Amino acid sequence: MRKFIFRSPSRYIQGAGVINDLAKETEMIGQSPLLIADEVVWRITQESIDSSFLNSKSDYHYEQFNGEASRKEIDRLANAGKEKHADLVIGVGGGKTLDTAKTIADELNIPVVIVPTTASTDAPTSALSVIYSDNGVFEGYKFYDKNPELVLIDSQVVINAPIRLFASGICDAMATLVEVKATIRSNGNAMAGGKPTLAAQAIAEMAEKTLFKHRIGAYKSAKEGIVTPEVEAIVEANTLLSGLGFENGGLAGAHAIHNGFTALQGEIHKLTHGEKVAYGTLVQLVLEGKPEKEITKYVDFYNSINMPTTLKSMHLENVSYEDLLEVGKLATAEGETMENLDREITSEQVANAILAVDALSK
Ligand SMILES: [Zn+2]
Repeated sequence: MRKFIFRSPSRYIQGAGVINDLAKETEMIGQSPLLIADEVVWRITQESIDSSFLNSKSDYHYEQFNGEASRKEIDRLANAGKEKHADLVIGVGGGKTLDTAKTIADELNIPVVIVPTTASTDAPTSALSVIYSDNGVFEGYKFYDKNPELVLIDSQVVINAPIRLFASGICDAMATLVEVKATIRSNGNAMAGGKPTLAAQAIAEMAEKTLFKHRIGAYKSAKEGIVTPEVEAIVEANTLLSGLGFENGGLAGAHAIHNGFTALQGEIHKLTHGEKVAYGTLVQLVLEGKPEKEITKYVDFYNSINMPTTLKSMHLENVSYEDLLEVGKLATAEGETMENLDREITSEQVANAILAVDALSK
């Protein structure tokens, strides 16, 4: 049976200063939330969050997230939630905090509200997390029954984070249409478990269009900490369009190659998700046999926002061919989303395409 599936958070709220409405926007979901954030994020956000709860009928219980999404840490936080009879989890912060919040909510069977403090990945809106080993090697995806009940993203907060994270989110969003197109072409399934709907396709197209049009203006303003309509457009592209697009439209080569890169040791681990996805997107375009002219359009795009397009900028200038085969092996492993690009791609083809991207970009 051919099944089309679309899923999403119930609500999405974006804007400069919306964090001040956190209590108002969550009190209809739960009155005794367990709120988790790491120390750094909490220092930045506590004042706004406290004042938002001042005249609210709900009262949160704060637990500091220690930075690692380990089993022990998840159990500790889930137990704290149980003890306090939490009826909602609010995760405030970056990827690991948000993934942990989703896991706790899933285990306690209560809703989750996601408050991203960067616009650096497509993860916030989705009902899934990525699982890595203790050494940071990709292991698989963990799927939840429900999407977040609410995603609330304060545009001012996210552009106060380092500009590199904002640019990384642009790269993650840029992969969306490239991967959705591949998924449709191969008759593959999206992460939501079904065929991509027309809605998912339209969302992915809008993501790419918005990024091409507004990234440079937004990048310049965001660097100065100024929220403009272009910044808002990019925050939405990075978070909502990218998130709905990949979950409902499918992942393919770009993310599989990103995951493959986690097999390597060394400096590459310092790169962000989006930086590795940028290079992975170029590799996918090479594997698809796209003409140089088209690939150059993407290379210029990444260069314009200081994102990596060469092996040197990936800290891989001394990488061996054997290591690239390891990347290829992980990227083409059973169950990887590479199958949405082409089931027959080999480790050698991936290794060669990684080298070809470097040659093209230089
Ligand atoms: Zn991503």
